Amino acid sequence: IRNASEEDVKEFGLSLIKGAILGSGAFSVVYEVCEERSKRKFAMKRIAKSSVDHCRSHILCEQKITRNITHPFVIRQYASFQDKKHLYFLFDYLPSGDLMDVLCGEARLMRTSGGGFTSCLKRSGDGENAKFLVGLDEKLAQFYVAQIILVLEYLHWNGIVYRDLKPENVLVDERGFVKLGDFGFAKNLKNLPEEKTTTFCGTPGYVAPENVFTQGYSYSVDFWSLGVLTYVLLTGKQPFNQPRTNDPMVVVQRIVDPHWEIQYPPYMKPAAKEFIQELLQREHQKRLGCREGGVLELKTHKWLKGIPWE
Ligand code: ADP
Ligand code: MG
Repeated sequence: IRNASEEDVKEFGLSLIKGAILGSGAFSVVYEVCEERSKRKFAMKRIAKSSVDHCRSHILCEQKITRNITHPFVIRQYASFQDKKHLYFLFDYLPSGDLMDVLCGEARLMRTSGGGFTSCLKRSGDGENAKFLVGLDEKLAQFYVAQIILVLEYLHWNGIVYRDLKPENVLVDERGFVKLGDFGFAKNLKNLPEEKTTTFCGTPGYVAPENVFTQGYSYSVDFWSLGVLTYVLLTGKQPFNQPRTNDPMVVVQRIVDPHWEIQYPPYMKPAAKEFIQELLQREHQKRLGCREGGVLELKTHKWLKGIPWE
């Protein structure tokens, strides 16, 4: 798929900022653009219609959900448009990037140029750059995790399961607060029987065991991914990719295998380890945030002691 050109976006009153690919995923490329009239910058997510033919309803979910949510920690969508081949969504532009950028430090500088644009190096906790990744300062990790809990609480309260929680989808604003982005897998469960769904989706390293099986699952999958995300923030590595593998099938097998045990680095504090272990409970009824104590038990966990929730 060719990159967006000036011509592509001119008809929407936008201009591309040179060299400004902010990121990309399986179906989309995100560009930095400028609105001609106001000179204001936005992030433009461009999705090829051909690549989403089989899941157009999902894409429309992303459009509808981000358009209707106003929450300080959720990315704001300003507009959406389309041409013959593409869908375009216009979001807040967040120059600090996502939590993987924060983890990688100066990752935004790690770009290679090509054809007038730059493309982001693949940054994965287990890719080639893994050896350069270390965990965040614990206080900073707690600060991010606490905000993500508030977003999940809000989304679930509104019937929305997010389904793709990972550092790459959590953006950071200029003051350092989080903005959850990428609602490409989010779904509204409000009108479904028992508020359950069955579609297997997400990102292999972050997917909950109940998502892998076909009996149906609900909001609990987001708390599992929160456990994985917390591990990644504190260590710079993914829990189910060690011992090292890049095979998603192996990762998923480890996730569902009740006998497979995660390795925790010796420097991790006991409270942090317990927090992660209680989120990575394979039986979702026993998982922190999903069991009887609900999200309040999660917020009052000792690892998050001292967070001013109000
Ligand atoms: P995909 O569904 O293809 O994963 P995302 O919405 O997650 O698309 O965007 C891909 C990447 O682009 C993100 O991981 C992030 O690094 C970057 N990105 C997305 N939205 C913005 C934004 N509003 N501001 C800055 N960077 C962004
Ligand atoms: Mg994404």
